[in-house]
Amino acid sequence: MRTVYVDNNATTRTAPEVLEAMLPFFCDLYGNPSSMHFFGGQVEQYLRKARNQVAELLGAAHDEIVFTSCGTESDNAAVFGSLETVPHKRHIITTRVEHPAVRNVARHLLKKGYRLTELPVDGSGALDIRQLDHAVTQDTALVSIMWANNETGVLFPVEEIADMLRDRDVIFHTDAVQAVGKIPVDLSRQKGIHLLSLSGHKLHAPKGVGVLYIRKGTPLAPFVIGGHQEHGRRGGTENVPYIVGLGKAAELAGQRLGEENTRVRELRDHLEQGLLAAVPNTLVNGKGQPRLPNTSNLSFEYVEGESILLLLSNLGICASSGSACTSGSLEPSHVLRAMGVPFTAAHGSVRFSLSGYNTREEMDYILEHLPRIIEKLRAISPFWNSSVRSIAGGAP
Ligand code: PLP
Repeated sequence: MRTVYVDNNATTRTAPEVLEAMLPFFCDLYGNPSSMHFFGGQVEQYLRKARNQVAELLGAAHDEIVFTSCGTESDNAAVFGSLETVPHKRHIITTRVEHPAVRNVARHLLKKGYRLTELPVDGSGALDIRQLDHAVTQDTALVSIMWANNETGVLFPVEEIADMLRDRDVIFHTDAVQAVGKIPVDLSRQKGIHLLSLSGHKLHAPKGVGVLYIRKGTPLAPFVIGGHQEHGRRGGTENVPYIVGLGKAAELAGQRLGEENTRVRELRDHLEQGLLAAVPNTLVNGKGQPRLPNTSNLSFEYVEGESILLLLSNLGICASSGSACTSGSLEPSHVLRAMGVPFTAAHGSVRFSLSGYNTREEMDYILEHLPRIIEKLRAISPFWNSSVRSIAGGAP
């Protein structure tokens, strides 16, 4: 069976060039970069190169890059590490649509006595930054707002937010795990972003490596206490092969940003427009907002997202659903709930997230099969049938 992979916001294929760059660091160049001998020194040079490659992609300085194990670790480190430096401040601001790597940490801190403001979004997933302005007080230690939403692809005006917060004596962290490699990120232009998280496996590096960018001068407590590695912020011998892989992936991402915004965007639009034209009662979640060029989150009203995914999966098509089946109850995602997407639409949401490896022919394969899948599921959907019955004159 063929595989059509359109779940790149979940994880991406490791680029062959990345794998090739990594391989020497397992059996040949396996020295510890902290060792005094020449063998360690050689490896240390590659570590430095990778740091420069990531710094270049972000418009950062090499000593502002700290390698971590994943986006979740970077997010945790940003939140815990910054709060530790301002123990007298007890207020955190995030949004209702953050990834659990921030959202659950903030909620955990709520139980520890912090105050938490989760800013709302509107029906299209947009944030009203005036609400942020009002929410910041002298007690606010940290504002953590994602750059791009992993489910809808909606972009928050992070640069505008950073400008707004510049004179407010708060630390500003952005979870840019979904943004880096898909849209331009230039931290040299935007001095108000203090901390930024990224994750290797979202940009064609392997799983198990990430970065926390820490702007020079930003107070942040060490988050893995041990040796002197990573400027004393994160002890532990560096995961050299993966870091080298992430460096290469960052270099490729910089070269391919143009393609992401032209070819990948065109493919996404072709798929989205085709589905909107072929399937009645289909909504775009995040419509009208600036979005990642690779992401389309669609709600097919009156059907279950899980059923769509299973039937797509039988055809080799890998996508994601915006409703998660947790503990036996089908709860729509917190993102769609925060947007107020109605129950009948939230349950039928599917996220397609593309990459440069996708082709037009793959989009046409989805367009060939998905409309019939929805039709079949609607034919057996009690919700669809009652909605059809309630509309005089036939099918909506
Ligand atoms: N933040 C966002 C926005 C994400 O989409 C993800 C992963 O899906 C993460 C954080 C966590 O990244 P990782 O899987 O590398 O821990």
